[in-house]
Amino acid sequence: MNCPDCRVELKRIEHAAAHLDACPICAGIWFEEDEILTVQSVQDGLRSLDQKVQPTGFGRGQGPFRLCPMCDSPLIRYRYLYTSNVELDGCDSCGGCWVENGELSAMQEFLFRERTEASSPAEMQKLLIGMLGAERAKNDAKAREFQQSIKSALRRRQYHWWIGYGQLKDD
Ligand SMILES: [Zn+2]
Ligand SMILES: [Zn+2]
Repeated sequence: MNCPDCRVELKRIEHAAAHLDACPICAGIWFEEDEILTVQSVQDGLRSLDQKVQPTGFGRGQGPFRLCPMCDSPLIRYRYLYTSNVELDGCDSCGGCWVENGELSAMQEFLFRERTEASSPAEMQKLLIGMLGAERAKNDAKAREFQQSIKSALRRRQYHWWIGYGQLKDD
């Protein structure tokens, strides 16, 4: 698998239990589906990855359009977590995502802010109400069965929702 910008072969790296592929020249990183979630679930996981992978030169840059290193589909630009100013390139076909050098730290910062805001009293109240609702649903065997059956169908969609994928395309 080659860097979508520099065309050199990506190097496999292990980080926070994820197997990622990084460009030795521009330090761009390829995340396969769900791997951003894996890395961001670890404390400071995105930032420490940014520090681990450093560029040794400049990427040659392919302009606004990149192709997926995995399946050659055109990558689609979207905003990480919808409202951040970090623009990532995602693949609609395989669910992978290209992250440029420096973007990981910006993602970490945004994620930290979001999580801090999410633990405000008002947000906690919302969470509690949601939990009570979930508790009621738990007693309903039919509801549980239904949840199970749609879980796998929604998996890809949920993942895209979590990383903010697709909102630029839908606009
Ligand atoms: Zn590169
Ligand atoms: Zn792809």
